Amino acid sequence: MIRVENLHFAYNGREVIKGVDLTFGEEILALVGPNGSGKTTLAKHFNGLLKPTRGRILVDGMDTREHTIAELSRKVGYVFQNPEHMFFEETVFREVAFGPKNLGVSEKEIEERVRWSLKAVGLEGFEERTPYSLSGGEKQRLAIACVLAMKPKYLILDEPTTGLDLKAEKRVVEVIRSLRRKGHGVMLITHDMDLVLELAERVVLLSGGRKVFDGPVEEFFKLDLERYGLEMPELLLLAERLGAGFVRSFEELTGRVKP
Ligand code: ADP
Repeated sequence: MIRVENLHFAYNGREVIKGVDLTFGEEILALVGPNGSGKTTLAKHFNGLLKPTRGRILVDGMDTREHTIAELSRKVGYVFQNPEHMFFEETVFREVAFGPKNLGVSEKEIEERVRWSLKAVGLEGFEERTPYSLSGGEKQRLAIACVLAMKPKYLILDEPTTGLDLKAEKRVVEVIRSLRRKGHGVMLITHDMDLVLELAERVVLLSGGRKVFDGPVEEFFKLDLERYGLEMPELLLLAERLGAGFVRSFEELTGRVKP
């Protein structure tokens, strides 16, 4: 469990997180909010990239102020937006091996972790490719594999589907679902309300550095989202017009609407 207690954070004296309380466990949680609401700043606290100005964060009981980023990275993996900026090795294998190598893991275990991580994201057979030759969706999955090789319990994915075509997005969605089934907690930072509707189990909405909503997806979509610069998914607008109530997928909608 990640526990955020009365978190305040200021950049150079300007407070941008203003007293957030939050717990996050084995679930798919969507962290949403307008630009500049503090999502990235909050998420960077989970693996110790940022330390609280006031309040504290406990990651499975570890106070992030008392542990290094390296220690916390074994618990919390952070997949940044635009992951291609992360890659610097010549092959996919070496890219995924880099993290565990730094942890001092044995050669044999590195090999196992790389195979296992690439399999988890559906990139077996890509070991000798150069990361730059991959498509956008493949790069995103490689970035997830790099983080998985550190064996973290929690994964933070920053805009994981932005810029992907539909097919690539579907693969990433499948990877996230399978991580959840394997007992990971996945936090999605996203503007993509379709993705929230499809995947999330819970939504946390930040606005102006404060948590203004924390609850189930169905309740979240009853809010006035425009107020927060967010768009209602077309699927829900359609369902509403057809009087079908709340649905999570197109299949669910067609199942409810009788011809
Ligand atoms: P979001 O991820 O929701 O877009 P951020 O956490 O990136 O929000 O930003 C929250 C606020 O903190 C914004 O006002 C932003 O300008 C400011 N901010 C973000 N990073 C820095 C930084 N490195 N230095 C100073 N201010 C920052």
